[in-house]
This record gives sequence, C-alpha cells and structure tokens, in this order.
Amino acid sequence: MTCTAITNATIVTVDANDSVIHGGTIVIADGTITEVLPAGVAPTSAIDHSIDAAGGIVMPGLINAHTHLAMTAFRGFADDVDLQNFLGKLFPAEAKIMSDRHVRVGVRAAFAEAMLSGCTAALDMYWYPDASIDEARKSGFRLQTGPLFIGSDGPDNIPFDRRIADATSSAPHSWILAHGTYTMDPTQLATAGELAATEGARFHIHASENAGEVSDVQGRYGRTPVELLDDNGLLRAGTVLAHAVVLTDAEITRIAQTGTAIAHCPSSNMKLASGFCRIPELLAAGVTVGLGTDGPSSSNDLDMFAAMRVAALIHKGSRLDPTAVPASSVLRMATMGSATALGIDDLVGSIEVGKRADLVRLDPSSPSLTPVYDPISTIVYAASRADVIDVWIDGNPVVINRTCTTIDVDAVLADLRDEARFIAE
Ligand SMILES: [Zn+2]
Repeated sequence: MTCTAITNATIVTVDANDSVIHGGTIVIADGTITEVLPAGVAPTSAIDHSIDAAGGIVMPGLINAHTHLAMTAFRGFADDVDLQNFLGKLFPAEAKIMSDRHVRVGVRAAFAEAMLSGCTAALDMYWYPDASIDEARKSGFRLQTGPLFIGSDGPDNIPFDRRIADATSSAPHSWILAHGTYTMDPTQLATAGELAATEGARFHIHASENAGEVSDVQGRYGRTPVELLDDNGLLRAGTVLAHAVVLTDAEITRIAQTGTAIAHCPSSNMKLASGFCRIPELLAAGVTVGLGTDGPSSSNDLDMFAAMRVAALIHKGSRLDPTAVPASSVLRMATMGSATALGIDDLVGSIEVGKRADLVRLDPSSPSLTPVYDPISTIVYAASRADVIDVWIDGNPVVINRTCTTIDVDAVLADLRDEARFIAE
C-alpha cells in the first residue's frame, strides 16, 4: 500500500457542514482518503510520499454534470446565435466528420482541458460513447456516459430502432442518454426510457432549455418537455435534466417530488440567450442541482471555475439580490451536487475519509488568490483554472505542476487542428 500525504493545506472539504481545515493534512492510501487531519495532528499511517501545499487550497475535484466533451473540435464554430440556429449549423457539420476517430481526438483534448482546469469527472452525452469510455480509461478521467438516442439517424447515420437494438445487445449500461423531447417523438422517448428502466440505468436528457423549445414541443404534443417526461415516468431518481431553464412552479414541484436532478449550465444558457434557470426555487424545493459547462461549442470551454463564477453572479444580477445562490451553494453544486446527480456521491464530491481521492490543489502563491478571508468565496469569486497546479483522480496524479501526466497534449492538439481543418473545408 502506497501512502501519500498532502500537508499544510487549506482543506475545503464540502462535507455536510462546509468545513474548512487550515494547515491540515490529507492522507491517501491506494487512491482512498484515509485521514483528514487538523493542524498539528500527525498521520497514523506510514507516509511514503509527502506534498507540502504551503497553505494553499486543496478542494474536491470539480464535476461537470452536463457536457459533450468530443465537441472540442467545434469550439467557436457557431457563436452569437440562439439554440435553434446553433443546432442548425452544427448538426450537418457533425454528420460530415463523425467517426470513432473524431470522437477519440475530441475527448482526448477535452480530458486534457478538463483535468488541467481541475475537473475530475463528467457526465458526457455524445456519439461513440464506447470510444470515449476507452479514452477515459487511458487518461484516468472519471467519465459517466452511455448510449445516446435521437429521433433522426444522427450524425453517425444509425436509425433509432437499430440504435435501440445495439444498446439492448450491449447491455448493461450505467447511463441511457436521450437528446431531447424536441428531437425525439413520444414513442421514441418512451422506448429509450423503458431501456433505461430495464437496465436499471440512469437517464439523462436536455429539457426545457429555452422558450422556443417549450412552445415547439407544446405545439406538437400539447405537453411541455417536462410534462412529457413525467407522462413517461422519466421524472425519477436517477434522471438528470440538462438546463431546465423554462420551468413552471408545478414542474419544479414535480421535479422535487420525483427526486429528479438538474444540471445547471449557466455559461451556455447566457451565451445562447436561453434565460435564467430558476436555481433559487429549485434549491429551496430540495432539488439536487449539479453544475455543468455544456459542450465546448455552446459555452466554448470546459472551465468549471468559469461556470461557478457565472452561476454565482447571474442569479444575483437578474434578481437584484446579492444573497441569491451564495458561494457555498455554487461550490456544492460543482462538487457534491454534481456527484449526487451522477450517482457517484458515495465515491467523490467531498474530501472525507473513505472517499476516493479526486482532489485539486490551487497555487498558494497566486496573486489572484491572496489574501484569503473565506476559502470558499476565494474559489468561487476569485480563482480561475489558471490557479490549478496539481490534480488527482482516484489518487493518481493526472496533473503535476500544471502538466498533464496521462495525455500527450501537443500531439492531441495537432490531431484536433486536423479535425478542425476538415470541418472548415
Ligand atoms: Zn447539452
């Protein structure tokens, strides 16, 4: 058993009490956090390797609750348009380039970007999920994903029925993903939902992202996206709705009653002018809310620090209420909230004994992190991904001194530029 100690750390635990330990020590044995100690208390384990955090912040790895990782190749491809025009430009371009190789290149670049910016896990919705799972294993990234369904043949040109048959024969999956109620008919939605129920899989879908989507679905079926999901028994524990920007009071009540989780993607919502998700009402109703970036084409990066900052600011600004969605709520959303939404809260999301060591160490000598009165406020309102120096996933140091240890970043970016050239041709 190898024991690593991170000493002299400002440990932001995100435990049930939002405890912060100054000058503390974290002991990691074979990837598990075995001791979290206050200042002046020596570990009971024999330590093989010690890292001095020099008083800097050590925090749980950030967890991206909704993204499309392989879309790194489409960063900056369709900006300053709304959701419908964004998808109108994107879908044909994806169809032109979609392949197992394209997804592998895209996710390798995404894992590098995510890990270098302190993100250690994600719920990913995209094509060729087996390729992404394989690349995540090689990169050491904690990926949650599964087969994705859409009503049309999709960019990989597979009819819906064949997709269902393929997923059925390759079961079990931990996730079944559906694109949206506006891109699938209710029968297809029910079929995907039944597959998830049969497999005991979790379920993830875009829902009520903007007013146009809601009125489109209402016009076709006489039901809102959330009502359609409810009709099909898809509001339930284990379901994660991405965005959920346009919600009625009754829908918030149903989301809370059913244990459905929300992935809040504020940067994407602002860029596509989708609107303000009703986070204060959702949190007040007891809904599990995770934080996501959405794909790097609709929010242009996988920066969870930026997502936290935007989440912390927009609800205050839009409501003229400086107490709306405080820093501690935002950090919890990006860690334990996302972990709970993804069903991995028993493993990660906080720094507590027994959890796997998904950790981020921030630069103790960063001007932007000095001084620190409240470390949680520092993380949300002042820190950026440039302050991330070391990252561990499952106890493995995947980033050391701002260098990715598991991915040849130069090689991956050269491949990504090739993909972008082909897209632009
Ligand atoms: Zn999305």
